[in-house]
Amino acid sequence: MCDNSLSVRFRQTGLRLTAPRRALIALLEDRRGEHLSAEEIHSALSAEGVTVNLSSVYRTLNLLVALGLVHRIDLSESHAHFGVEHGEQAHFRCEVCGEVSEVYVAGHAGLARRLQGLARERSFELTRFRVEAEGKCKRCALKEKTHKEGRCPDVQMMSPLKP
Ligand SMILES: [Zn+2]
Ligand SMILES: [Zn+2]
Repeated sequence: MCDNSLSVRFRQTGLRLTAPRRALIALLEDRRGEHLSAEEIHSALSAEGVTVNLSSVYRTLNLLVALGLVHRIDLSESHAHFGVEHGEQAHFRCEVCGEVSEVYVAGHAGLARRLQGLARERSFELTRFRVEAEGKCKRCALKEKTHKEGRCPDVQMMSPLKP
């Protein structure tokens, strides 16, 4: 049993774990590492037979964000997405398609150690950190590579812009 689970951490706040909150937390826990929009969470809960309206999904998510249990991330789409907060995580965001993947930077990793060292030097008490890294996802990088090499049939269709 993982003591670090979202529901355990929620109960530690002393707030009431109502049935809809419990269902929402369980869903986020199940889909750990993913980033779901409030609408996706709402429809997943409805599909499970949980009666909850969208505005209360938003309220619970905002509460979880305020408690530091969940983080919100703004993808290229207009709405925010929510994922379980771990304290030491990095997001790799593709600057082409906007896909975000999450990686965990464990306590023994060089990056975490370096940040902890820098924090100590400044007498800053580090509780959590998050790294946002931008680049190209595998798919987009590959697509770009094939375009550059002229192997992609679509690329021949496009005439280069000439003055
Ligand atoms: Zn995330
Ligand atoms: Zn991409």
